[in-house]
Amino acid sequence: MTDFNEFTHACRTIENTPGSLDMTGQVAQLLQDVTCDELPVVTHFIMGEVFPAWSAEDMGIGTSLLYTALSKTAGISIKKMESLVRDTGDIGMAATVALSNKPRGQATFSLFIEDTPPLSILDVFGRFKNISKVSGKGSQATKIKNLQYLFNSSSTEQAGYIARLAIEDLRIGVGEGIVRDAISKAFEVPISDVERAFMLTNDMGLVAVTARSGGSEEVTKLGIELRRPIRMMLAQVTPTIESAISEMETVAIEWKFDGARVQIHKDGDNITLFSRRLEDVTRSLPDIVSAVKENVKADSAILDGEAFAVDESGRPRAFQEILKRFRRKYDVELTAREIPLTLRLFDLVYLNGENLIDEPLTDRRAALVGCVENAGSIKVDEQVLTADIEEVNRIYNEALEAGHEGIMIKNPNSPYSPGKRGKNWLKKKPVMETLDLVVIGAEWGYGRRANYMGSYTLACHDPDTGRFLPLGKVGTGINDEQLAELTETFSKLIIIESGMTIELKPEVVFEIAFEEIQKSTNYESGFALRFPRLVNVRDDKSPDEADTLVRIGNIYSNQRK
Ligand code: AMP
Repeated sequence: MTDFNEFTHACRTIENTPGSLDMTGQVAQLLQDVTCDELPVVTHFIMGEVFPAWSAEDMGIGTSLLYTALSKTAGISIKKMESLVRDTGDIGMAATVALSNKPRGQATFSLFIEDTPPLSILDVFGRFKNISKVSGKGSQATKIKNLQYLFNSSSTEQAGYIARLAIEDLRIGVGEGIVRDAISKAFEVPISDVERAFMLTNDMGLVAVTARSGGSEEVTKLGIELRRPIRMMLAQVTPTIESAISEMETVAIEWKFDGARVQIHKDGDNITLFSRRLEDVTRSLPDIVSAVKENVKADSAILDGEAFAVDESGRPRAFQEILKRFRRKYDVELTAREIPLTLRLFDLVYLNGENLIDEPLTDRRAALVGCVENAGSIKVDEQVLTADIEEVNRIYNEALEAGHEGIMIKNPNSPYSPGKRGKNWLKKKPVMETLDLVVIGAEWGYGRRANYMGSYTLACHDPDTGRFLPLGKVGTGINDEQLAELTETFSKLIIIESGMTIELKPEVVFEIAFEEIQKSTNYESGFALRFPRLVNVRDDKSPDEADTLVRIGNIYSNQRK
């Protein structure tokens, strides 16, 4: 059993390491040093998560619950705890300081008993697992007790990392990219194999364990499993229809529906639906579940499609309406009647035990058409194969007239590339491209808006380090109703509040329109947005799906051309 101290020690070293190459080496060493049981846990921990992102397991620890547990353990008031977080600027450091100042009389139970074994990595995980299992009345108290146990059994430095892990914000700069490279280095498996296995399983812990026990041979065997989501294939923007056609020659054109992505797993009569964030949304969408049961003729299948809401005339309703359906946990049947969904299927990645991702799009579609019986609310979307620009323009205009976003231009010979935003799927929309950015901070408003958070700090994503780098603030495009709703959402994500300024847990993605990207020394990303405006709150996107620093840099350079 590995002591949790080993993990803490590795985190401290990594945190103080500037280069990502050295960081990869240190993570690789840690992965090699732990036991097989500990390996999946440590792989998730080091990325700042406790369970794989797709798993339904969730600890539900907000900052206020964490502050309560810490203040109880340290014997200080919650106000004092909050002020420590403000002063140190970090929950981990605040936990360490609070517990170091603990009066002698409150020394921990474990310190009185000399031979109490030190806290192990699996002890910490076990407590987190207990926390994820409790629900209903009394659950808050049980969560606090479990956290108190951990804080009481650990050194003050360990407690700092436990506090950060509890809210899944480890802040040591290790993201998916570094862990992927570290697994490759530690267990001598090519990076591309690790990457592909991760895209198919969505579980870096599983990939690490498999790499250690079976090397490249077993890692490449890791594949699709029903009821475990695979990463969705993504699209790139194409500047013009002409450039897309000249690159692919014959193109497959489909409408780009104005809705939300759904990945559908059919395992006999069991249907599971995943959102674009790979969250299980089955319970919120009973109409889609029954439409799939009735109209998909396959023993097992994984289908990809877009769900949208329509008004009486068949035109798509606002994106926020669709999200109401995806978010709904109670009265789902009632909401389903109020906001009926239409599903358009455009891909099939698995059929009756066979993985189709490496098959060309045309073959996957033929199989899709073969297993779906089109009905009113569920259909395979129409696709036209053509090399004729006029025809593509005609379809583009039709889609826009029908109220949808534009078109998708797909390479008919391409495989399904999970998690990839490559050149095989291009999107063409009329508006200036928007950016998806993560909200990492906010400011309290003034005057009439004094009780609301009025301005939000936006950041792009650096996939290698998992960090979010700021590039601007947005306060425009937000009406009063939205402001109240956003303030409520964000109040649960406050990490530190200092005067008017708030630091937020990176969780919510805003779709932002802007006039121009400029170089700037004001923001850590090195860029700033001119005239940013909120277009949508993208609840369907997770923070790591936000636009990357590389894309911001590309848009900047293209602007200048
Ligand atoms: P974006 O969200 O701007 O990156 O555009 C890609 C998204 O368009 C996908 O994730 C789908 O949710 C959506 N979409 C709508 N229609 C289609 C289609 N026919 N094929 C693929 N994606 C589509």
